[in-house]
Amino acid sequence: MNFENTIAFAKQLDSQDPLAKYRNQFFIPKDKDGNEQIYFCGNSLGLQPKSVQSKINQELEDWKNLGVEAHFHGKNPWFSYHHFLTDETARLVGAKEIEVVVMNSLSVNLNLLMISFYRPTAKRNKILIEGGAFPSDYYAVEQQIKLHGYNPDHCMIEMLPRKGEFTLRMEDIIAKINELEDELALVMFGGVNYFTGQFFDLEAITKAGHKVGAQVGFDLAHTAGNIPLQLHDWNVDFATWCSYKYLNSGPGGTSGIFVHELHANNPQLPRLAGWWGYDEKTRFKMQKGFLPQVGAAGWQMSNAQIFPMAIHKASLEIFDEAGIDNLRAKSLLLTGFLEYLIDEANKENDLGFKIITPRNAAERGCQLSLMTGANGKQLFEKLTQKGVIADWREPNEAFGIGGVIRVAPTPLYNTFEEVFKFVEILKN
Ligand SMILES: *Cc1c(COP(=O)(O)O)cnc(C)c1O
Repeated sequence: MNFENTIAFAKQLDSQDPLAKYRNQFFIPKDKDGNEQIYFCGNSLGLQPKSVQSKINQELEDWKNLGVEAHFHGKNPWFSYHHFLTDETARLVGAKEIEVVVMNSLSVNLNLLMISFYRPTAKRNKILIEGGAFPSDYYAVEQQIKLHGYNPDHCMIEMLPRKGEFTLRMEDIIAKINELEDELALVMFGGVNYFTGQFFDLEAITKAGHKVGAQVGFDLAHTAGNIPLQLHDWNVDFATWCSYKYLNSGPGGTSGIFVHELHANNPQLPRLAGWWGYDEKTRFKMQKGFLPQVGAAGWQMSNAQIFPMAIHKASLEIFDEAGIDNLRAKSLLLTGFLEYLIDEANKENDLGFKIITPRNAAERGCQLSLMTGANGKQLFEKLTQKGVIADWREPNEAFGIGGVIRVAPTPLYNTFEEVFKFVEILKN
């Protein structure tokens, strides 16, 4: 699309936006004067769907009126509650229902899945991770390696950008996988890097990993609800994500996991266990000897966390109705418009910062990461004062990256007009 640098053009895009009605289904935070803020922080904590309250109230009512009986006789019986999330979750990430379940929280699930899919041997014991990964991912990988008695200095391989670059090149990732070859046990990458906003070609990474005999898993915290996925068709071994970022399911919200059908019935896979992963038909016989459910559900441990799941249900219904492909189509325009306006502003007058997120829209989601100069923190604080909610990341000296302001206009509740206003504020 040929964008134009005017508010009229932004308004025109909004008037043509088939998803515009969804903004009204969310609570938009306001400043102290009662004006709606420009909320570009859905990559960190998504906004509250208005339908959340009634979903929670339903479960409070059932608890109030039925007590323990609500496990089987509530409106949404708690015994089965996680089942109410699987079809929408499967559609969201391109999986079969048997391949997904909602449980726990993200870092917990990452550790649980690595117990099953990282099985190092004396020869094949390395894990490839993207440089600048989220700290939880680093810690989990490091500790899993130690758990098996190996040395993280030797076994954790970080994929770094080339000198002077901020993002990874796919050809370098593939070359690294080939180089590690029969020493590579697991590729554990973020789908979208939280700092740079780079989206990796997950299918190509999976293919390359499998070719050298490694397992491949992804942390999709910044990917689920942001970019359409085909986890089943891409043959990804496992993945996990949180629900409170793009998926708007509340602070500390629950998490989803994907385990490929190929592993659904493999009793050889070691795993940690709890009663909720046990075969459902005979779970209440309370017998010894763990008999896992087939598929991802067999990785569950504890009984369903009804309240976080009720919130997640409210949000998944919106995603399902809007459609992740439609959301992506709008997102490409929204973030494309932001990029265009920033480039225009920089042409008029050097604003002193640089977009480090890939310029190729296929290699990113909603987020643009703006690397700032010396006054970055002040600029960020000014933005906040002017009603823009974005987020600030301290400089990463090891990567030669200055302080970064991350901005993520999201297609469910942000508008083209907000994008325009944001860049006007930035210029001022
Ligand atoms: C947000 C995020 C996390 C956070 O994990 P929690 O267990 O939900 O606190 C972990 N990894 C990545 C890549 C993230 O972006």
